[in-house]
Amino acid sequence: MAISDALLSRLADPDLLPAAGLVDGRWIEQVPGGATFAVTNPANGEEIATLPDMGAAETAEAIGAAYRAQKAWAARTAKERSAALRKLHDLILAHVDDLGTILTMEMGKPFGEAKGEVRYGAAYLEWFAEEARRVQGDVLPGQQGDKRVLVLKQPIGVVGMITPWNFPSAMLARKMAPALGVGCAVVAKPAEQTPLSAIALARLCERAGLPAGLFNLIVGMDGPAIGKAMCADTRLRKLSFTGSTEVGRILMRQGADHILKLSLELGGNAPFIVFDDADLDAAAKGAILSKYRNAGQTCVCANRIYVQDGIYDAFADKFAEAARTLRPGDGFVDGVDMGPLIDADGLAKVEDHVADALSKGAELVAGGSRSNAGALFYEPTVLRNVTADMKLAREETFGPVAPLFRFETVEEVIEQANATDYGLAAYFYARDLSCVWRVAEALEYGMIGVNTGIISNEGAPFGGVKQSGLGREGSRYGADDYLEMKYVCLGGV
Ligand code: NAD
Repeated sequence: MAISDALLSRLADPDLLPAAGLVDGRWIEQVPGGATFAVTNPANGEEIATLPDMGAAETAEAIGAAYRAQKAWAARTAKERSAALRKLHDLILAHVDDLGTILTMEMGKPFGEAKGEVRYGAAYLEWFAEEARRVQGDVLPGQQGDKRVLVLKQPIGVVGMITPWNFPSAMLARKMAPALGVGCAVVAKPAEQTPLSAIALARLCERAGLPAGLFNLIVGMDGPAIGKAMCADTRLRKLSFTGSTEVGRILMRQGADHILKLSLELGGNAPFIVFDDADLDAAAKGAILSKYRNAGQTCVCANRIYVQDGIYDAFADKFAEAARTLRPGDGFVDGVDMGPLIDADGLAKVEDHVADALSKGAELVAGGSRSNAGALFYEPTVLRNVTADMKLAREETFGPVAPLFRFETVEEVIEQANATDYGLAAYFYARDLSCVWRVAEALEYGMIGVNTGIISNEGAPFGGVKQSGLGREGSRYGADDYLEMKYVCLGGV
C-alpha cells in the first residue's frame, strides 16, 4: 500500500496521508487476502495511491467499534464535544494547502477551488461546534394534575456516511460535523475514485484527540457491498448518503427491513431562469459561476438555463463569450479555470447529451468537443435553441455544458422549470419584486438562488425536495437529522 511520490512530495506534512483506512483507532493497511485498489489523478491518468480494498468485514468491525465508542462520547459534556470540533476545524484550516493539494490530485479541480471546498467543509465544523451546545429540549407545563411533559433530544447513535467523488472533502465534513457535535459515532465510506481527502480528515480527527472508534473510515472499491453491510447491521441507526438518486433508492429499499433512518442528498437538475428585466451582466456572470464550477459536476449547478425572449440573444452572446474564455487544464497551473471530468463514463455522458441535442436541432455556439488539455477534459460548451425533448433538459448532464432554452411568460417557465423529478436547487435573475416572490414560492425546489448563482452556506439548510432527497445539512435544522426525540411524562413527584 502506498501513496505516490508525486503526491507525497507536494505535501508539507506527508504524515497526513497514510495509505490506509481507520477502524477502532487502528490504521488498516492491509486486508485479509491482500486485495487493493488504485486511485488515479483524472487530470493525467497517473496512479497516485494504492489502498487496501476494505469491504463488508471491515465495515462490521467499524460499526462495532463505533457502537462501543458512542455512548461515552454522548456522555461527555456538550462543551467538550464542541471543543473537539473546534480543534478539528482549526487543524483543517492549518492544513488547507495540503488538503487542497490532495483534493486537486485525486479529483482534478483547480487548486484554488479545492482550497475553497476545504474551507467550506471546515465552516460546518465551526458551525456545529457552536450548535452542539444548543441541543435543547422542552418542558411542557400545565398537564393534568402534577404531570409535566419533558421533551429530550438524544443522539441517534452510530451513523453510516457514504459520500460522492465531486466534493470529497466538503461532503464528509458537512455530515461528520453535526453527527459528532450532537454525540453520534461515525463509519464513513468515501467514493472509490476519491478516498484520499477522507483519509486526511480521518488523520486530523485522530490529531484532534477524538477517541478511538468514534470516527472510522472504510476505503474500498465495492460501494454496493459496503452499503449492504451498513444497511444490514442493526447497530447502525442511521445512514447519511450523498450521491445519485438511483443509489439513494437502493439504500431506502435495503434499509426498509429494520426501518433504517436515512438522510439523502441526491441528484439535481437545476433550472437557471433569466427574466427580461434582469441585470444582464450579473445574470451572465452568475450563470457562468453556477454552470462551470467543478467542471459542471455539481449537484446544484445550473443544468437548464431558461432565458426570456426579449434578452435571449443578448444573454446568449454574453454568456458564450465568457464561456469561451474559461481555460480547462491541470489544476495546479495558474489561470486554469476548469478541471477534467472524473472518468471516461462522465465524459461519455457529456458527449452523448451534446450529440443528442445537436441531432434534434440545437445550435452549438461554444465548445462542443474534447479539449486538448488531456484525455478527460471537455471544452466549456454552450448550446442555443435547446428544447424539452432533449436529454440536456431531462437528465443531469454533470459536465461543462450549458443548454439555453427560450421562454416567453412567467407561467410557462415555472411549468418547465418544475417539470422534473428532481427538486434540489433553482436560480433566477429578476428585478421586479412581485415576480421575485411569485417565482420563489412557485419553484418546487429545496433551495432557491435569487440574483445569485452560488447558494451554499453552512448557516442555511441544504437539501432537496421530490426525488432530490430527504433531510437537511447545515443550519440549526441540520442537527435534528442526528437526534431522536423522546418525551418523558413526569407524574407527581
Ligand atoms: P453514486 O451514487 O454513484 O456514488 C456515491 C457513493 O455511493 C460512492 O461512495 C459510491 O461508492 C457509493 N455507492 C455506489 N453504489 C452503492 C450502493 N449500491 N450502495 C451503497 N453505496 C453505493 O454518485 P456519484 O456519481 O459518486 O456522485 C454524483 C451524484 O451525486 C450526482 O447525481 C449528484 O447530483 C449527487 N450529489 C448530490 C449532492 C447533494 O447534496 N444533493 C451533492 C453532491 C453530489
